[in-house]
Amino acid sequence: MNIVINAIAFAADKHRNQRRKDADASPYINHPIALADVLANEGDIEDEDVLVAAILHDTIEDTETTLSELAEQFGHTVAGIVLEVTDDKSLPKGERKRLQVEHASHISGQAKLVKLADKICNLRDISGSPPADWTAERKREYFDWAKAVVDGLRGVSPTLERIFDEAYEARPVTA
Ligand code: NDP
Ligand code: ZN
Repeated sequence: MNIVINAIAFAADKHRNQRRKDADASPYINHPIALADVLANEGDIEDEDVLVAAILHDTIEDTETTLSELAEQFGHTVAGIVLEVTDDKSLPKGERKRLQVEHASHISGQAKLVKLADKICNLRDISGSPPADWTAERKREYFDWAKAVVDGLRGVSPTLERIFDEAYEARPVTA
């Protein structure tokens, strides 16, 4: 498990100045750790590359981390999975959201598992510790977008898909 611990230390350092969007501004690293926890302990995923990629999944997108840095420290498989779940930040947000739906069914099985866990954790966060200024309507929109992405990811883990569907059941009711 040393490589998993290495990834946690690496991600904790990279995300050290970032916070989640909840009212308490929780430390960002809680989120990648939550993904690995869901994968390993709820989804029974034992693929170490998937667990390490989950811990590192937001490093390229949200920090100065480069693909070659990940490849050097964690290998090409892990770096490749992280790249597959990284949005192109040069595109407008709406376009990035649309592309996530479009790409979901075309990414690798390992990347699908990371994305499933990401969406499970974000729905749980929106239910339990949401971004402070989000209306019920905005939360509902996020739930529906996440479901559209996950519908393209199905087929890699019935257990994680069921866990996603359970999280989706908690979507806010709007007029
Ligand atoms: P996002 O919808 O991208 O914010 C959600 C993302 O924030 C999550 O995917 C997650 O990403 C991260 N995050 C951090 N903290 C939390 C938390 N506590 N709970 C859940 N997610 C968290 O918001 P943006 O502000 O970037 O806006 C993007 C899009 O939202 C726009 O394109 C627009 O379409 C839409 N929008 C809608 C509005 C409305 O009122 N309906 C208003 C403004 C924008 P990660 O896992 O990567 O950290
Ligand atoms: Zn994430």
